Amino acid sequence: MDIETDVLIVGGGIAGCSAAYYLARDGVEVALVDRGEVGRGASGRNAGSLHQQLMPFTFREGSARERQARVDTLPLMVAASGVWQELSRELDGDIELRIIGGLMVAETDEQMAFLADKAALEQDQGLDVHMVSGNELRTLAPYLSEAVIGAEYAPGEGKLNPLRAIAGLVQGAKRSGARFFEGRELLDLERGPADFTALLTGGRVRCRRVLNAAGPWAAQVAAKVGVSLAVEPNCVQSSVTERTTPLVGHLVCHAEKILSLKQVTNGGLIIGGGWPAKIDPATSDLTVLAENVRANVALACQMVPDLERKRLLRSWAGVNIRSDGKPFLGEVPGVPGFYNAVPPDAGLTMGPICAKLVAEQMTGRPTSLDIGMFTIERAAP
Ligand SMILES: Cc1cc2nc3c(=O)[nH]c(=O)nc-3n(C[C@H](O)[C@H](O)[C@H](O)COP(=O)(O)OP(=O)(O)OC[C@H]3O[C@@H](n4cnc5c(N)ncnc54)[C@H](O)[C@@H]3O)c2cc1C
Repeated sequence: MDIETDVLIVGGGIAGCSAAYYLARDGVEVALVDRGEVGRGASGRNAGSLHQQLMPFTFREGSARERQARVDTLPLMVAASGVWQELSRELDGDIELRIIGGLMVAETDEQMAFLADKAALEQDQGLDVHMVSGNELRTLAPYLSEAVIGAEYAPGEGKLNPLRAIAGLVQGAKRSGARFFEGRELLDLERGPADFTALLTGGRVRCRRVLNAAGPWAAQVAAKVGVSLAVEPNCVQSSVTERTTPLVGHLVCHAEKILSLKQVTNGGLIIGGGWPAKIDPATSDLTVLAENVRANVALACQMVPDLERKRLLRSWAGVNIRSDGKPFLGEVPGVPGFYNAVPPDAGLTMGPICAKLVAEQMTGRPTSLDIGMFTIERAAP
C-alpha cells in the first residue's frame, strides 16, 4: 500500500465513517485507515441509544467544569438527532432509527427535584423535555414499575442499529469514491512543508490533510504531531435479552443510577448505561464483569418488572471515549492540515454531527453550528 490522497482519515468508527461519507460526497478525495476492521470498535459494540438528555451519573458527579462542558454540548445533541434523521433517509437500507422518546425515571422526591432542575437547564439550551407523573406517566409507559413516581420525558430520544448505520455510511462513502483500508495501523506521522506522510503497518500514505477519528485512542494519534489531547479509553459493557414481544416502548434511563434500557427492532432488550468492564493493559483483552451485569440487570428489572421473566442472552464489553464531556472538533492551531473529529462519550449519537461539522470546515464552508467551543484550544488537558 503506497498511495496519495487529499484527506487521510484515521479510524473507522462512526466518526471516521461519517466523515468519509460527508467529505467524499462533497467531492473530496478520501482514504480511511483502521488498524482493525471498520466498525469493530465502540461504534459496533454500543447499545444503540440516541440520547439527548444529560446523563445523571456524568452530569451530577462531574466537576463544575465538566457539568458546564455537558451543558455547552447540549445544542449539538439536539442537532445530532436531526442529522441522524437525514442519514436514515439518505443511506441505503433501514438503519432502524426510531424516535420513540426517552424517559429518565425517578423513584424519590429528591430525584424528581433533580430532574425538574435538569429539565429547566436543558430547556434553556433548546431541548424539548418535560416532567411527567401520575396518570400521564402510567398511560405513556404502563410497563414501568409502581416504584417509579415520575420521569423527565424527551420526545426526541430514540434508538438505531449502529451496525446497519456503519454499513450504510461505508457504502455511501465508497459510492462517492472514498477508499477504505483495514488492518492498517497508523504508526507515525511525518509533517512536510505542505503535506503529511503517514507510516502504516504495511504501507504509506502521502496526504495533504489528516483527520483524527481514532475515538478512545485519539490522544495517541494527536501525539504523533506533538499535540496533547485530553481523551482516554473507558471500558464499559452492555447486555441483551432474548427476543420478545413488544414490552418497553421508550429509551429508559434512571435519574441517579446507571441504566439505559430499550427494545430494539428484532425484539431484544438492550440493558446498559455505562457499567464498567475490565481491560487487560498488556493485551487489551476486554472482560465483562459479572457482578456489574447482575447489578445492571437487577436495576432494569426493578424499573420494568416484566423483564424478570426474560432470559439474558449475551453481555459484551467495548472501549468508549472519556473526555471532559465536549467533543474535540476542527483544525488544530499550529498544525495546519491536522483535524480532530472526536465525539464525547455519547459517541454514537454524536459521531455524525461531529463529522459533518468538521467536513464543512474542511471543505471551506461556514460550519452550520459554531464549533469555537469545541476546538482543542478550549481546555488544558
Ligand atoms: C458498550 C458500549 C455501549 C455504548 N452505548 C452507547 C449508546 O447507546 N449511545 C451512544 O450514543 N453511545 C454509546 N456508546 C459510545 C459510542 O459507541 C462511542 O462513543 C462511539 O462509537 C465512538 O466512535 P468513534 O468513531 O469516535 O470511535 P471508535 O468506534 O472507537 O472508532 C475508532 C477507530 O479507530 C481505530 N484506531 C485507533 N487507533 C488507530 C491507529 N493508530 N491507526 C488506525 N486505526 C486506529 C480503532 O481500531 C477504531 O476502529 C457506547 C459504547 C460502548 C463501549
